[in-house]
Amino acid sequence: MSNVTPMMAQYLEIKAQYPDALLFYRMGDFYELFFDDAVAAAEALDIALTKRGKHLEQDIPMCGVPVHSAEGYLLTLIRKGFRVAVCEQMESPEAAKKRGSKSVVRRDVVRLVTPGTLTEESLLEARRHNYLAAFITLRDDSALAWADISTGEFHVMPLTPVRLGPELARLVPSELIVAEGQEADLAETVTDSGAAMTPLGRAAFDSQGAEKRLCALFKVGSLDAFGAFSRAEVSAMGAIVEYLEITQKGKLPLLRTPVREAEARVMQIDAATRRNLEITHGMNGGRAGSLLAAVDRTLTAGGARLLERRLSSPSRVLDVVQARLDSVQFAVDQGRLSADLRAALRRVPDLDRALSRLGLDRGGPRDLTGIRGGLEQAAAIAALLPDDMPDLLLQAKQSLFGHDALHDLLDQALVAEPPLLARDGGFIAAGYDAELDEMRQLRDEGRSVIAGMQAQYQQDTGISSLKIKHNNVLGYFVEVTATHADKMHADDRFKHRQTTANQVRFTTVELSQMETRILNAGGRAIEIEKRLYDALKAEILDRAAPLAQTARALAEIDLTTALSDLATGENWCRPRVDGSRALVIEGGRHPVVERSLRKQGGDPFIANDCALGVGADIWLLTGPNMAGKSTFLRQNALIALLAQAGSFVPATSAHIGMVSQLFSRVGASDDLARGRSTFMVEMVETAAILNQADAHALVILDEIGRGTATYDGLSIAWATLEHLHGMNRCRALFATHYHELTQLAGKLERVANATVTVREHDGDVIFLHEVRKGAADRSYGVQVAKLAGLPDSVVARARVVLDALEQGERMGGVKPKALIDDLPLFAAAPPPAPAKPPKSGVEEALRGISPDELSPREALQMLYDLRGML
Ligand code: ADP
Repeated sequence: MSNVTPMMAQYLEIKAQYPDALLFYRMGDFYELFFDDAVAAAEALDIALTKRGKHLEQDIPMCGVPVHSAEGYLLTLIRKGFRVAVCEQMESPEAAKKRGSKSVVRRDVVRLVTPGTLTEESLLEARRHNYLAAFITLRDDSALAWADISTGEFHVMPLTPVRLGPELARLVPSELIVAEGQEADLAETVTDSGAAMTPLGRAAFDSQGAEKRLCALFKVGSLDAFGAFSRAEVSAMGAIVEYLEITQKGKLPLLRTPVREAEARVMQIDAATRRNLEITHGMNGGRAGSLLAAVDRTLTAGGARLLERRLSSPSRVLDVVQARLDSVQFAVDQGRLSADLRAALRRVPDLDRALSRLGLDRGGPRDLTGIRGGLEQAAAIAALLPDDMPDLLLQAKQSLFGHDALHDLLDQALVAEPPLLARDGGFIAAGYDAELDEMRQLRDEGRSVIAGMQAQYQQDTGISSLKIKHNNVLGYFVEVTATHADKMHADDRFKHRQTTANQVRFTTVELSQMETRILNAGGRAIEIEKRLYDALKAEILDRAAPLAQTARALAEIDLTTALSDLATGENWCRPRVDGSRALVIEGGRHPVVERSLRKQGGDPFIANDCALGVGADIWLLTGPNMAGKSTFLRQNALIALLAQAGSFVPATSAHIGMVSQLFSRVGASDDLARGRSTFMVEMVETAAILNQADAHALVILDEIGRGTATYDGLSIAWATLEHLHGMNRCRALFATHYHELTQLAGKLERVANATVTVREHDGDVIFLHEVRKGAADRSYGVQVAKLAGLPDSVVARARVVLDALEQGERMGGVKPKALIDDLPLFAAAPPPAPAKPPKSGVEEALRGISPDELSPREALQMLYDLRGML
């Protein structure tokens, strides 16, 4: 190590402690990265890779990012799956020099940045939660805990490993902590969820240590105060706290006391269903196209996050649903009040995240004014709210009070528009602190004081051209032209400092004292502001719990008025929710499709009825492609989901018997993007429904069985329908293009046929999008093919084949084989050109194809080639 510089030695020592993270090593105004870190980061960030010095005879690769723009780079790295250890200089270079000429500045990692532990405004999506979760299995007991350190929320629930996937799909955590050794078992589930997996040593999960950590954090003697937790639950929560201690280097965020959740209280929705229904995430993974995006009219970040929580976890508890609907009803009825509330809500800042940043000492003056602004609006909103309101709103109102003293303090202490950083000062209002005022006055008035001194010196010396000037080398100095120098030398107050070509410069004791005072006053003012900042911060953190309550209440009020605004604006109705098994919807619409049709300005959305659980439990829906089957299926699922989330619904009336589990599956061919054998996936997912759905489940199956050969597919769809009817006895909507299934309605007592109507006009098909009782009389596939632009000759030929097949069927079970033998090749069709039998070259070419190896594009090309050979 003899040829290793002291700095490099320090770097290597620190880096050794963080082998899994990129080390951001602070050097002045840059964070520098070295060795492999530099190579990886330069590539990920698309910045220049350079070198700096040598290590063991090799060049050291290096790259760097400026400190002032580091957040953007951090975000990119975190998104790309890296973890970053931020290493700061812990003393000034001057201080290091004092310790010895060769000393390197002391440095230390102050924080480990990981996807689940972000708090910076710029690194987070304001309207989404950012969860850190931990999962542990201890013998036959397992649990999931999760926290959002940017808002302080902290939850835990018992959870069997097979239920981990669905829960991760519900919460969408950005990071999951698991015990070392469990990674392999959980890898697939975690990867599917999109969370980063972080293994922690078993010790972090030790339930006794965990209990101690939690008791210390919440300052209680025993966790019983918060509920009866299993060992696994304590262990999962403890792991979260331990991990926060590691990543935040001992500074713990303001976690609220843990809330125990029970699976039984929320509608069960698995990952595939969430994807299909695009509840909180659209097909592209973002918000766009999702139900959440279509219904979100919240005005505050807290309200938006609450809406996301509600939609991803609709309730199954009747009282909870009723209470939420009562609130929305109230807001709908009091339109004027709602509008006033919304005007005030617009100015509510993100209290939760401001609090969290202050708690982690990562805040700034704007977080203080954010709290002040939030409290101001809270008071204004409380004043608007009457006392006779539904319970939920009344509770919210009560949580808005009690901050007058804090508000007044912040109001007196802070300026209206503070700067971003506490470091620069300038955020404490004038008149709040006498000493600060004096210091600022000294600093600001320095110029005029000096101007006064200049006049004095001019008078004393009789040199009217005497000037007081300032530069960085001399500081303040008195300057006269060389001709006056003698007069100055005569006055022993003036000490000669410098002679230039034409000027002579002097200082005086008085002047340098003044200078020191001006400089000191500026520094001192900043010190005082820093002290005041800390004091204000402490006042706020003292009241963190009631402030978080207020934030929660504001979110509730925001969400309530947002849902009422939506209901009024879109003409939605209050659903009747009860414990029955009804799913009776009149005039139902699909909130996302309706919105996008309106945006396109084309045909209006056609409303449709649905009636399950009264008479029939299962509707078998037939109709041609593009008729609106999928839309109808999904809209009914979404209406049930919205109702249980506590929202009004897009329908003229809706009676929803509480849905316990929601399942939605789409036949494989719509799902080509996922690499695995799609038919296998479809079957695995269908099996999950058949094994789990209970009598209160709602199941939506769209073209199940489509992913395989006709007869296989038909048989699978058939058997699935029978199982749902006889064994699961749940409510279901089943869309299929297998006409044969419609006969089942006659045999199975609780199955009814429904169809999406189309009208035929001159051999063309017009989609009416109307759902009616009864089976589709034919499939219209041929007409749809025509719409899609298949050549006329092919359409005409298909029609002949179809007619023959249908006729054969009517004549009583003539086998397609027999028909094909009978059907003269192309004879009945009016082909544009005489058809020729395929040349043998075509057959040859066909034999040479291995379909599994073709991309869709290649397959298309192959078709062109084959046709070209005719
Ligand atoms: P299918 O599942 O029968 O193939 P989709 O449900 O995918 O059909 O609907 C096809 C298109 O028809 C949708 O993208 C939408 O634009 C339109 N559509 C569906 N239902 C309706 C409706 N009720 N009113 C108006 N347009 C509709």
